[in-house]
Amino acid sequence: MNLDTPESVPVLVAGGGPVGLATAVELAYHGVRCLVVEPRESVSWLRPRAKTTSARSMELFRRWGLAETLRSRAPLAVSWSDEAVFATGLLGREITRIGGCFGLDLAGSDLAAEPGQQVPQPLVEEVLREATGDALLTGWQVAGLREDADGVSVRITSKTGEERAVRAQYVVGCDGPRSVTRAAIGARYEGRQDARPNFNVVFRAPGLAERLPHGPAVHYWVLNPAQPGLAGRLDLKETWWCIAQGVREDADPVRLVRNLAGADIDIEVLATDPWTARMLLADRYASERVFLAGDAAHQNPPYGGHGFNTGIGDAVNIGWKLAAVLRGWAPASLLRTYESERRPIAADTIEAAARNMATLAPELADPALMGDAAAFERVRPAVAEAVRRTKDSEFHSLDLVLGYTYAGSPIVAPGAGERLPHRWLSAGESLYDRLGPGFSLVGDQRLPGANVLVSEARELGVPLRAVDLPGEPLALVRPDQHVAWRGEDPSGALRAALGER
Ligand SMILES: Cc1cc2nc3c(=O)[nH]c(=O)nc-3n(C[C@H](O)[C@H](O)[C@H](O)COP(=O)(O)OP(=O)(O)OC[C@H]3O[C@@H](n4cnc5c(N)ncnc54)[C@H](O)[C@@H]3O)c2cc1C
Repeated sequence: MNLDTPESVPVLVAGGGPVGLATAVELAYHGVRCLVVEPRESVSWLRPRAKTTSARSMELFRRWGLAETLRSRAPLAVSWSDEAVFATGLLGREITRIGGCFGLDLAGSDLAAEPGQQVPQPLVEEVLREATGDALLTGWQVAGLREDADGVSVRITSKTGEERAVRAQYVVGCDGPRSVTRAAIGARYEGRQDARPNFNVVFRAPGLAERLPHGPAVHYWVLNPAQPGLAGRLDLKETWWCIAQGVREDADPVRLVRNLAGADIDIEVLATDPWTARMLLADRYASERVFLAGDAAHQNPPYGGHGFNTGIGDAVNIGWKLAAVLRGWAPASLLRTYESERRPIAADTIEAAARNMATLAPELADPALMGDAAAFERVRPAVAEAVRRTKDSEFHSLDLVLGYTYAGSPIVAPGAGERLPHRWLSAGESLYDRLGPGFSLVGDQRLPGANVLVSEARELGVPLRAVDLPGEPLALVRPDQHVAWRGEDPSGALRAALGER
């Protein structure tokens, strides 16, 4: 969207990072119009922060019809590697390796409809930008907002100093760490930041891949006390990323990369990006009409690759609820469950990521590893064991990624709340592919409860798709694929799932 910024729109999304764009895609999936206001004209190719798109995010991309597009454009195919190698240097000795990282080994599995995918964040944003289409307004930012009983008046300003007012019924603040939206609703981050500085480098290293003794891996951890860190390939040509811990922004990036390699390799530095790990959670996520999502609401250390993936979960949760309210199938009180469902998941994620950060390459590096072959072999088993003990949960976190639940939510019946278990119905067809964009009633449609729910949905004007699984008990599945209710007598279940009493 460029010239004709609308004067009013059902939803204004502040910020078009991955989470703002995902919110727009979710709203469009339910037929709701929005405007995404984003200052950056194009994505930041030289700041490729996230590389891990989780299996759950990929399932949600599949739900939007975008999983194949993302995979086909990702430089590292999912079949390329699911391993993390721990070594004394990129060109050094291997200590150990961990397989099945980040759900990358789940292709065809009964656990998930999609494996994870390693893909640089700018590419994820580009695919989401394309899907957002005309709803994206770049070169503008949200300067302020004022909420009243009927809506929100948003002041937006352009790079050239123009100013306009947009009236929205609801605002989703996806404007990242320095969120204007968070400040506008009087919410505050609570938490702490890590003392250790970190330094990312994106570099070209012709010939490095050919010299690497370790073969394909999505992470190469360097446990050299002189320069600990981790690195990986951004593509299968010559571009790499690395993170060095405990390094300040005035570091020499060429020296740093050569130290990680363990040799004076030829490199060209493309970009550097200093950053600090933060464990922050907004004290509240919402006012009546303004909602925070993604990094605007929570920040966690990157270890485990959860940051924007948690934000995608936020986007889907607030997106379907806003659609339900705007399309008239649910009362506005449904929106209050956004914070109560999503904030505890962010809190768990922050804790898990902080635990992952407690032991990194500097803690695992042992000077004896850098000694002669005999010294290396003497210490290697103990270091390998420490890696397994401390790093396993960082690379294998499906309990969090696929297992988070809304159990206990006021709109979830006792015993429900978990993600509907995926299963293959036929080759390549997941149960998820049969669900509707609204609610779905999964199970044997001849059971008496089925008719009750179908007529309740018709009466309330709620979209409900029946998914017949002969012989199976009934489950009412929400638009976000979480189970709202299961059992025999569904009277009132749909109303309860929409926050009606
Ligand atoms: C080294 C590193 C590695 C990481 N690895 C991973 C990983 O593997 N997996 C993962 O899931 N996460 C990872 N993360 C975290 C991930 O990068 C963030 O969680 C993610 O960018 C958050 O997305 P977001 O859309 O919420 O916020 P952002 O990406 O910060 O986007 C916010 C957007 O809002 C815009 N904006 C700012 N102010 C305004 C305004 N006033 N009005 C309108 N727009 C505004 C900005 O231009 C920006 O585009 C990593 C982070 C780091 C530092």
